[in-house]
Amino acid sequence: MIRLQSGENLQVRIQDLMIPSERVAHVQVNNSLEHALLVLTKSGYSAIPVLDPKYRLQGLISTPIILDSILGLERIEFELLEKKRVEEVMNKKISRLTIDSSIDKCIELLIDNPFLCIVGKEGYFEGIVTRRSVLLYLNSHIKEK
Ligand code: AMP
Repeated sequence: MIRLQSGENLQVRIQDLMIPSERVAHVQVNNSLEHALLVLTKSGYSAIPVLDPKYRLQGLISTPIILDSILGLERIEFELLEKKRVEEVMNKKISRLTIDSSIDKCIELLIDNPFLCIVGKEGYFEGIVTRRSVLLYLNSHIKEK
């Protein structure tokens, strides 16, 4: 049974849980959907961040979004993959955190998002926090008890 002491604060910061930007697979706003699908398929992730040429976070792109955008009435229009740009179809309404955000807020947002993007000043992309990284921390925290 998991028993946590009431009033106990989690002594962990966003930066302790973050996968830094250098290790995060991403695409650029002006990449083709074909390129994005290649990166998604090769990396094995179902969604990844979209950045602008200055490495500012602009949105998220996922395999379902790409497939939905090339669905015609009677067939999948694969030829659109090389014509359409990521910025035309990406999800722009995304939750984001900063390095100073609270862990409580992070855990709350991870209920509905498999990962969260961390941004710095003027939206520069710093990295991501995933459900896995939070669960790994909580698991080791519980076992220390
Ligand atoms: P996880 O909790 O490790 O299963 O990761 C949840 C989601 O976060 C994955 O499905 C990806 O969409 C994203 N993700 C995790 N690690 C990376 C990474 N290194 N680069 C890009 N996206 C990632």
